[in-house]
Amino acid sequence: MKANVWAGRNRLEIQDVPDPQILNARDAIVRVSSTAICGSDLHLVDGYIPTVKKGDVLGHEFMGEVVEVGPGVHNLHTGDRVVVPFPIACGACFACEAELYSVCENSNPNAGMAEKLMGHAPAGIFGYSHMLGGFAGGQAEYVRVPFADVGPIKVEDDLPDEKVLFLSDIFPTGFMGAEMCDIKPGQTIAIWGAGPVGQFAAASAFLLGADRVIVIDRFPYRLRRVQRTGAEVLNYEEVNVLEALRDMTGGRGPDACIDAVGMEAHHPTPAMYAYDRTKQAARMETERPYALREAIMACRNGGVVSVIGVYGGFVDKFPMGTVMNRSLTIRTGQCHVQRYTEPLLQRIRAGEIDPSFVISHRMPLSEAPRGFELFKNKQDECNKVVLTP
Ligand code: NAD
Ligand code: ZN
Ligand code: ZN
Repeated sequence: MKANVWAGRNRLEIQDVPDPQILNARDAIVRVSSTAICGSDLHLVDGYIPTVKKGDVLGHEFMGEVVEVGPGVHNLHTGDRVVVPFPIACGACFACEAELYSVCENSNPNAGMAEKLMGHAPAGIFGYSHMLGGFAGGQAEYVRVPFADVGPIKVEDDLPDEKVLFLSDIFPTGFMGAEMCDIKPGQTIAIWGAGPVGQFAAASAFLLGADRVIVIDRFPYRLRRVQRTGAEVLNYEEVNVLEALRDMTGGRGPDACIDAVGMEAHHPTPAMYAYDRTKQAARMETERPYALREAIMACRNGGVVSVIGVYGGFVDKFPMGTVMNRSLTIRTGQCHVQRYTEPLLQRIRAGEIDPSFVISHRMPLSEAPRGFELFKNKQDECNKVVLTP
């Protein structure tokens, strides 16, 4: 089959790879009908997430048709149309019982690798490095889905792929980012990053009752797109973000701040950017955490900083003093997608949201490397790329 493969730092290639096989009783094979490129893929492509190897098949946002099931899968059948959550979860361990699916204790066969870096191991994730399981990803014609009786959600044919595909990741992720803010009526939520994840976080903050949502980025086309959710916007190349947020909130600061940027933040101040960029490029720190630092500084006393941007390792110059002295709460995680698929599907069915609003580009899987270039470099007003095998 054809798949989008990591061929070295910043090099992607469409290659012929072996078709996936059923390996365990609870596996299914899914023929991919739609897949997408995520901001999380960008951290892999340029080599900032450790343990990616040449030949790895990327992609963790996908849906399609079940073409084969193992003998242990009773709830899915050949021909079923499914959306597959990006974390792989067994459904029965201590973490899964607590609905903490992205830290499932049974789905990461390379747990030992992750333990060295992180203390304990998180779940396996499709197409997301060997430390996170070494699973082949969904930017391919077919995928092996482990624990297929737990994660995939069946979707009837009346909803097009584009409305349900993002249940695999970015809609639940944005929703969880907003949910972790414990939003009360009247509150103001600030969000760093107007990418697709920030856009879903903004839409979700309103669904959860936020009064005002303020989104920060530097790309006018992305700020315009997030304005469609009802959010106000700040361009950090035009205003001082901390001052602007103070002015907009009576001097107090937003009630909660969401980091939807992650480990490769851009920095408006050249000196600090050079500091983080140089240390990251030399692999002396894994992150460039500018947005996280700013979200912490901006948050009101006693507020919540919700971190859904991905971090891979260690952060430098972390303002622990402000977190501690100002009674901030930090909440974070890879999204526990399985927790949200059913309720968010209901919201889509009810017409509360149409997730396809994030899509800017559609192309065949064979053009995935070009899609990555556009998405990474924010060219051609690229916001979200959907690929069809
Ligand atoms: P993206 O690259 O399309 O968007 C990131 C946006 O952040 C860009 O528009 C960029 O201009 C903006 N940005 C960069 N520096 C900034 C700064 N200093 N201040 C404000 N904005 C800044 O990526 P995306 O697909 O929207 O994903 C966003 C993040 O969410 C990534 O880190 C991704 O890995 C992460 N993610 C996490 C989960 C999860 O489960 N927690 C799931 C999906 C994605
Ligand atoms: Zn993702
Ligand atoms: Zn589990």
